[in-house]
Amino acid sequence: MRTQLELLVQLQDIDNQLLELKQERGNLPETVERLRAEIEETTQLLDTRSEELLNAGKERRRIENDVELAKVSLKKYQDQLFKVSTNREYDAITSEIESAKSIVTDGETRIIELLGQEEELTETISSLEAHLEKIKADFDVQDAELQEKIAETSDLEATLGKNRVKIIEQLAKPIYAHYERIHMAKEDGMGVANVFNNACGGCFAAIPPQKLLEISTLADFILCETCGRILVDPDSLKVD
Ligand SMILES: [Zn+2]
Repeated sequence: MRTQLELLVQLQDIDNQLLELKQERGNLPETVERLRAEIEETTQLLDTRSEELLNAGKERRRIENDVELAKVSLKKYQDQLFKVSTNREYDAITSEIESAKSIVTDGETRIIELLGQEEELTETISSLEAHLEKIKADFDVQDAELQEKIAETSDLEATLGKNRVKIIEQLAKPIYAHYERIHMAKEDGMGVANVFNNACGGCFAAIPPQKLLEISTLADFILCETCGRILVDPDSLKVD
C-alpha cells in the first residue's frame, strides 16, 4: 500500500504541474487575441480617416480652382460692364457678376470649413498611428511570449503525460479510478490530500484519531469522510 500511496502522491504532483501549465497559457491567448482585434479595428479606423482626409483635400482643391476661375470671370465681367450699350446687356452682365461673386463667397466659406476638417483629421490620424504602433509593439511581445510558452510547455506537457501513463500502469485500478473521479470533480484537481494539523488538507474537516493512526501506518487506503480525497500523511511517507 505504501508504494501505491507514493505513486498517488507522484500522480497528484504531475497533475498539479499540468494544471499549472494550462493556467499559465490560459491568460496569454486571450491577451494576444484582444490585441489582434484592436490592431484590426484601429487599422480600419485609420483607413477611414485617411480616406476622409484625402476626399476633403480633393474637394478643397476643386473649390479653390472654381473660386480662381470665378475671380477671373468676375474681373472680365466687371471690365465688360463699362462697355455695355443696352440695359439688357447690363442686366445680363450684372447677373453674371452676382453669380461669380456667390461662387467666390460660398467657395471661400467651404474652403475654411474643409481646412478645419483637414486639420482635425490630420491630428486624429497621427494619434491613431501612434496608438497603432504601440499596440503592435505590445502584440509582438505578447505573441512571442505565447509562442515561446506553447513551445516550452508542449515539451513539458508531453513528458508529464508520458510519466503519468507510467504511474497509472502501476496503480491498482480501483485506486486510480477513485483518484481520477475526485481529481476531475474538484476545482483544484486534488484527488490526494495531505493530513495537516489532524485535518484533511483538502476540505479542512477534522480526522478522527483512529483514522489518523491508520493513515500513519500506510497500511490502508483511507478517504476523507467529508470530501472523499485520498488522505496521505507526508511525514509517514518520508520515513525510511
Ligand atoms: Zn476532506
